[in-house]
Amino acid sequence: MSVQVVAAKMAEVELKDINSKSLPAAMPVAQKQEEKSAIKSQPAAPSTSPAVSAAAPEEPSLPTPSPNLMKMPQASVLKRTEPQHNGGEAFINPDGTVTEAPKTVKKQIQFADQKQEFNKRTTKIGRRSLSRSISQSSTDSYSSAASYTDSSDDETSPRDKQQKNSKGNGDFCIKNIKQADFGRREIEIAEQEMPALMALRKRAQGEKPLAGAKIVGCTHITAQTAVLMETLAALGAQCRWAACNIYSTQNEVAAALAEGGFAVFAWKGELEDDFWWCIDRCVNVEGWQPNMILDDGGDLTHWIYKKYPNMFKKIKGIVEESVTGVHRLYQLSKAGKLCVPAMNVNDSVTKQKFDNLYCCRESILDGLKRTTDVMFGGKQVVVCGYGEVGKGCSAALKAMGSIVYVTEIDPICALQACMDGFRLVKLNEVIRQVDIVITCTGNKNVVVREYLDRMKNGCIVCNMGHSNTEIDVASLRTPELTWERVRSQVDHVIWPDGKRIVLLAEGRLLNLSCSTVPTFVLSITATTQALALIELYNAPEGRYKQDVYLLPKKMDECVASLHLPTFDAHLTELTDEQAKYLGLNKNGPFKPNYYRY
Ligand code: NAD
Repeated sequence: MSVQVVAAKMAEVELKDINSKSLPAAMPVAQKQEEKSAIKSQPAAPSTSPAVSAAAPEEPSLPTPSPNLMKMPQASVLKRTEPQHNGGEAFINPDGTVTEAPKTVKKQIQFADQKQEFNKRTTKIGRRSLSRSISQSSTDSYSSAASYTDSSDDETSPRDKQQKNSKGNGDFCIKNIKQADFGRREIEIAEQEMPALMALRKRAQGEKPLAGAKIVGCTHITAQTAVLMETLAALGAQCRWAACNIYSTQNEVAAALAEGGFAVFAWKGELEDDFWWCIDRCVNVEGWQPNMILDDGGDLTHWIYKKYPNMFKKIKGIVEESVTGVHRLYQLSKAGKLCVPAMNVNDSVTKQKFDNLYCCRESILDGLKRTTDVMFGGKQVVVCGYGEVGKGCSAALKAMGSIVYVTEIDPICALQACMDGFRLVKLNEVIRQVDIVITCTGNKNVVVREYLDRMKNGCIVCNMGHSNTEIDVASLRTPELTWERVRSQVDHVIWPDGKRIVLLAEGRLLNLSCSTVPTFVLSITATTQALALIELYNAPEGRYKQDVYLLPKKMDECVASLHLPTFDAHLTELTDEQAKYLGLNKNGPFKPNYYRY
């Protein structure tokens, strides 16, 4: 059989029994034991590492060998210890400019004034001033594309407009319903690069694994999210959606969704009370209560916790995508306050190894080029941090002919950098000579004023890490330095002697702020989210406790296999003999949970 056919068949097998609600059978005992012993043999996780812990409350049965969507492998019982977070906050004004970037802001759950009555509307000026304290995750999440839609020259707040779609439905609040056709084209373009979701839809015709699901979502509202939402609807779910980021909504996409009958509450340039008002409009509805949550950043989850805790009686599970949101879930879990099962999509292999690496490999050049028109060939670049993001950035720049230096604190990643052909240096050794500095550490104060003072004229400084604390931008706000905004997201900071450095996005995430991220990568994450929702929604009572679960290997393998046909990829099948030799099931999972890829 041609391998192409095998790949196609694989996707087919995944999907054909989509309405079957049978449970996964137990994994062969031998393998189960192998995994368990391997996990136990891992050293205790250091506190700084989001390592895997074997301390699961109870071990549910492991995946069935057959890669069948509805015989969904249940989430791994392996749990992560809490990751360490160093957080700062980016405050984006409604017009997209950033006026202040505090040095360090403790990463905590932040809420709008809980007592705020939404019917007591604030004035426009009042609402603007609130935008500075917007939730962190609403401003600095990186998991989706920045929007290129303008916020429209119509200054009227969508909350002051009465709009209806062509069917007379007005259960939405967006910028302008007239942009629906444009948004539909954007969604259709995204569909081309989201093959797995399209395959799910096709296979689910007439079969509805999410029938009865009432999903409330809070994610970036982009064309890629629209493809996910429409897929969830095709699988039988009802959806109500708000934006997790005040700035990333594609207005035309929101319009297309509203025209299609989705209850969407989002527009680009929301202010703080708009942000919480939109979330509230999604959940506070007469005659409708969510039974699933899809969150990116944890704001929606925490809003429900604070305002409508009783809703959790009907909620079957939470699927969370972002680092920040997962951190919040672990906080809740630790405090014994998590009252439903939650799936941590952020730490699944298909997120970490694809989003972090490939997304950054593709978008670093885009972000730099759009903002500075810089030529990469022959330029000296220092990349701080050689994790997934640093690896992606370094590889892209090397491929363009840049001379890349790497800094690391971890000898393992440092050795990887060396063996990948990069010069491992300390930042102070190269800071005078480099043309571009990129931070990718997830740490704070990696580039401090001392280094900024020593950089050469014209040096470009940017950050690809989660928060805006990697570059000490606040230290540049001193009287002797002049700031000149030369382009959107591009500042020249000028020293008294005329030296200038080029600071991008004020130290916030470059690719979220200044470029797009590839749809295909988002497709992988969106498919993982869809499968996690299906699994949690269909799981029998008791399979998942009130805890945070990692996605099982088989689910990751399933997501990957659904994307292989795009590449005409020819996957080799294990023979019976080989499967026996390796102690594997022919249909996976192919690796133990501790495998690092
Ligand atoms: P990672 O943990 O794999 O890599 C970070 C690396 O930085 C580690 O190897 C660590 O040893 C190193 N490091 C820490 N402090 C350092 C210092 N002072 N100097 C030099 N090296 C240091 O994490 P990752 O997956 O590569 O993600 C890095 C950051 O990027 C995180 O904040 C993450 O949330 C963010 N992220 C961004 C995007 C994006 O699209 N821009 C995508 C995914 C993740």
